[in-house]
Amino acid sequence: MKSFIEVSPESHFPIQNLPYGIFSTADNATHRIGVAIGNLILDLSVISNLFNGPLLKTQQQVFQQTTLNRLMSLGNEAWKEARSTLQTLLSESNSALRDDQKLRSKAFVPQSSAAMHLPADIGDYTDFYSSIEHATNVGTMFRGKDNALMPNWKYLPVGYHGRASSVVVSGTPIHRPNGQTRPKDDEPPVFGPCRLMDFELEMAFFVGPGNTMGEPINIKDAHKHIFGMVLMNDWSARDIQKWEYVPLGPFLAKNMGTTISPWVVTMEALAPFTVDNYVQDPQPFPYLKHEDKYTYDIKLEVGIKADGSDHVGTVCQSNFRNMYWTMKQQLAHHTITGCNTRPGDLLASGTISGPTEDSYGSMLELSWRGSKTVDIGNGATRKFLQDGDEVVITGYCRGDDFRVGFGQCTGKVLPALSLK
Ligand code: MN
Repeated sequence: MKSFIEVSPESHFPIQNLPYGIFSTADNATHRIGVAIGNLILDLSVISNLFNGPLLKTQQQVFQQTTLNRLMSLGNEAWKEARSTLQTLLSESNSALRDDQKLRSKAFVPQSSAAMHLPADIGDYTDFYSSIEHATNVGTMFRGKDNALMPNWKYLPVGYHGRASSVVVSGTPIHRPNGQTRPKDDEPPVFGPCRLMDFELEMAFFVGPGNTMGEPINIKDAHKHIFGMVLMNDWSARDIQKWEYVPLGPFLAKNMGTTISPWVVTMEALAPFTVDNYVQDPQPFPYLKHEDKYTYDIKLEVGIKADGSDHVGTVCQSNFRNMYWTMKQQLAHHTITGCNTRPGDLLASGTISGPTEDSYGSMLELSWRGSKTVDIGNGATRKFLQDGDEVVITGYCRGDDFRVGFGQCTGKVLPALSLK
């Protein structure tokens, strides 16, 4: 499959991908839905009348929205139809768009001249803790090797309800938070800027059609409720976290900002990259059990760029396939109580660490709680993040001669807020 739009083999956005995002331009501040193709964006608000399949011809207004929520709410049959329409329109053998210069000049926008926005109105955001390597590393640091995993960890996907209001799109800077910490265990706590600022390498999925309160999503149907995925940096203040987290878990250590990449890669685009699920022992309860493959070979990388430097030093290479619990299990578990979800809800993986020291998805693990330094290139090292550091997360799946990628998820640490 090839597009008439030129796409380099290293591009994250060939015709096999077609992720959705929300963008605006200098000459048109309206937020609209676009699809990334090569270095361009196809503006769906300009071509909404070309979605003429049986499910979408009466739903063309979903492509005129300022967020993806309504498209997400339509469900996977409509998503398949939209993708097939887009692949046909962008195909090198189809003349409808290819040969219409006037339409092309209106419908395509260079990504370099567009501003990206949050893809959806996110009503609720939940963060899981589903990488066994990450949970084992953190548990080992805080409780010792023998008690690393809590007794519940292999029975249920541990998670917490996060803060949706401070989820921001890639490129948004994040201030170092102020807060309470207790640097010395035998002395009273102190108040001031966080000293152990960290990133967390995560991915997250958007809920498509929600479920009615009181009607859990069956694991067999869970895939029909999952629209697509983004990269995520779940910024974390480790010293604030350590002082506050007992007994109710993360609170202010996590709410100063959560960054996501702007392009939502659909589950259809990711389908060729499924790999075997993590082998689970003990067997999960029946409500969490599924046999079909629902994890993905997504290569992930984290780099740190120091203030004033143009070098992004790679500190972590991991892979989404390291996840112990699948997204279907997370969604089934989340709703088993009857909790409702809504289109645009965001459910995140938790830090994605691999088995080797260079695949750990946070500075907490990479520096092993600050006991060693991490090389970020040009002779610079870190234990945690400094002001001015920019964290750059990328991810992609490798096809035969193309990539299905997520672009970048970036954010810069600004100095602590000054208090009035
Ligand atoms: Mn997290």
